[in-house]
Amino acid sequence: MKYYGSCLCGSVSFEINGVIEQVIHCHCDMCKKSHGAAFASFGVVAQDAFQWIGQEAIGIFNSSPDTQRTFCKKCGSPLQWHKSGDSFGEGKISFSLGLLDTPFTPNEELNFFKERKAKWYLAHE
Ligand SMILES: [Zn+2]
Ligand SMILES: [Zn+2]
Repeated sequence: MKYYGSCLCGSVSFEINGVIEQVIHCHCDMCKKSHGAAFASFGVVAQDAFQWIGQEAIGIFNSSPDTQRTFCKKCGSPLQWHKSGDSFGEGKISFSLGLLDTPFTPNEELNFFKERKAKWYLAHE
């Protein structure tokens, strides 16, 4: 499979040559702030399946010592989430699903930190 994605202003773009292995909606407090939204939606892919096309505007923020979040320095779109030395994240990268330009329908989705779900988000159980 081949997928394309880009940020809001188009300065950052990427392609994925492979399978989007998981869809994760993360309701943790850091994802809320980082995305300015009720939760962050990520696709998980093998790191070597993910290739930047345009990358001159990529900024990096370490939200924890071992966690990197990347974003577009021009428009602020959150790009990726990556935790080093994590058994879950080993060799994987999580990218913001909202950036996808290629249609994609997963078979299933996972919700992380459901107990932290924003009180002002009424949908979903
Ligand atoms: Zn941008
Ligand atoms: Zn999170």
